[in-house]
Amino acid sequence: MTEQDRREELRAALAEVRARVDAACVAAGRAPAEVRLLAVTKTFPASDAALLTDLGMTDLAENRDQEASAKHAELAGLRPDSGVRWHMVGRLQRNKARSVVRWADEVQSVDSVRLADALARATRTAVDAGERVGPLDVLVQVSLDADPARGGCPLTQLGELADHIARSGDLRLRGLMAVAPLDAEPGAAFQRLAEASENLRKDHPGAVELSAGMSGDLEQAIAHGSTCVRVGTALLGRRGLASP
Ligand SMILES: *Cc1c(COP(=O)(O)O)cnc(C)c1O
Repeated sequence: MTEQDRREELRAALAEVRARVDAACVAAGRAPAEVRLLAVTKTFPASDAALLTDLGMTDLAENRDQEASAKHAELAGLRPDSGVRWHMVGRLQRNKARSVVRWADEVQSVDSVRLADALARATRTAVDAGERVGPLDVLVQVSLDADPARGGCPLTQLGELADHIARSGDLRLRGLMAVAPLDAEPGAAFQRLAEASENLRKDHPGAVELSAGMSGDLEQAIAHGSTCVRVGTALLGRRGLASP
């Protein structure tokens, strides 16, 4: 496929996704400006990320440090002035913290005190080294299905983790992220998430972000207050098997 063909394909897909987001906002009585669209570029090349920025996308997301770090560098070469914000949305090991804070503006997958501490230390080091400016925006990923293998902080431990993050000068608690359970209707899970977010904001009024909804369930997420949908497949097409 030529670059021009790919550009038109992405343009059409983006228009379709934006129309879905707008329709879901109208249905929920919300303003479309309340919902940010993140393009999840994992497994797709930096050339696609570049075309998405040409089409006006300002927020890109990745789920693996190594791939993201390389793509971030490549995009900086392809589109030096894109001003893109990069979001880490995948499970993260503490030993990757030093690398992640070099490319990520926000980490949406913080689910433990230990990971929060590692990111805070790494952010401080990176700021001191001139590798990044300012604190790291973080979302707490909460578990909606009690399956520890899929990551996420149990709702029962959310308050403690949020308080811990809020005390760090190197992290900025921006809100919550979640992935709907695989085998259940997502609406009920997003409702639990919305309640957790409302609770959280009593103690942390700045934690207003609610990152929920992907290609298959963004309508339900927006109905339950999502402020950020993370869309891969519906924008970029089907992924190979390399990255789940
Ligand atoms: C891959 C991924 C997405 C995007 O999923 P699609 O179904 O392709 O839209 C969203 N969130 C996270 C955490 C992901 O890993």
